[in-house]
Amino acid sequence: MVRGKLYVLSGPSGVGKSTAVHEVMRRHPTLRFSVSVTTREMRPGEVEGESYYFISRQRFQELLDNDALLEHAEYVGNCYGTPEEPIDRMLEQGIDVLLDIEPCGALQVQKRRPDATLIFMAAPSFSEIERRLRGRGDTPPDKIEARLERARWEYQQAEKYDYIVVNDDVDHAAAEIEAIMLAEKCRACLRLHYLKEAK
Ligand code: ADP
Ligand code: 5GP
Repeated sequence: MVRGKLYVLSGPSGVGKSTAVHEVMRRHPTLRFSVSVTTREMRPGEVEGESYYFISRQRFQELLDNDALLEHAEYVGNCYGTPEEPIDRMLEQGIDVLLDIEPCGALQVQKRRPDATLIFMAAPSFSEIERRLRGRGDTPPDKIEARLERARWEYQQAEKYDYIVVNDDVDHAAAEIEAIMLAEKCRACLRLHYLKEAK
């Protein structure tokens, strides 16, 4: 069986990652989303075990001590991490997995899993990020400032990614992510077995 593929999506808070991920998952029901652990508070509308596993700092530390996280990072005062075991289980079953994580974590994945594909999501303009973040209405003003400051640093990391998707329109952004996934499936190294007969 062909092993599943790991895709990592990053981009500033408010750029539209979750919205685009939902659309891509709707179009590709076999793709699975990696549910992270976080120490941050649950937002209205979020679902335990679907959006995140909401855990204490002590539990987070235990996961780190047990080497249970593929990557982890601190983001605006909270800890986030990707449980490794469920990902390996899905990849071994040939299932493609999508991670929505910030750049420190994405670059850890790039080191530990060089076959992962890293996609950075940008907005059509930087001011649009602030507009979307405020428009979402679930982040207090002081936290918005902290997230925007972080966003400037995140933009500087984009050149380390394999692809940049611009979320001007959700359907268009989802189509760009789909196109990347299709191109990755057509890589020569994954297709050479079709050519074996000619040898
Ligand atoms: P992230 O997951 O990156 O923090 P969200 O997916 O929560 O961002 O999106 C932030 C806000 O921007 C939401 O209110 C969402 O509806 C809106 N949004 C997402 N994509 C677009 C887009 N292409 N155009 C306009 N608004 C968008
Ligand atoms: P939010 O609090 O808005 O859900 O997420 C804040 C940031 O944390 C986003 O950039 C999101 O991609 C990132 N994030 C979510 N889960 C993880 C994770 O497991 N690891 C890392 N490194 N970042 C994560």
